[in-house]
Amino acid sequence: MPLYEYVCRKCGKKFAEVLSVDEHESKKVEGPACGNRDLDKVIEPFYARISSKTGRL
Ligand SMILES: [Zn+2]
Repeated sequence: MPLYEYVCRKCGKKFAEVLSVDEHESKKVEGPACGNRDLDKVIEPFYARISSKTGRL
């Protein structure tokens, strides 16, 4: 399933959700820190996310 990344517009916290396409269409994703549903979607290549998170590959 694809990984969707979001940034909360309220607290600025970035997080990722693994969702099916159907879930992504229908589910309301909430910021895990504050429960806010006003989110920006982040489009990032998968490899860039991994390398920036760990600092090494
Ligand atoms: Zn938030």
